[in-house]
Amino acid sequence: MANRACKNCSLIYEGDKCPNCGSQEYLEDIKGTITIFDAEKSEIAKNIKLNKKGKYLIRSR
Ligand SMILES: [Zn+2]
Repeated sequence: MANRACKNCSLIYEGDKCPNCGSQEYLEDIKGTITIFDAEKSEIAKNIKLNKKGKYLIRSR
C-alpha cells in the first residue's frame, strides 16, 4: 500500500484520511520524508513548523 502525504499538514500516512488533521487531500508523489520522534527537541521540526511526532513529507519552497 502506497503511503500518502497529507496536503494540509504533510504527515505521511496510510488509509482513507489523515489521522492528524482529518484532511482527505493528499499527495502520492513523495520525494522526501523525515520522521519526527520528539518534535520539541528537533531542530528540523522547528524549521518546518511541526509539533507532533510522526513521519512527514519534506516540502521545498
Ligand atoms: Zn494532515
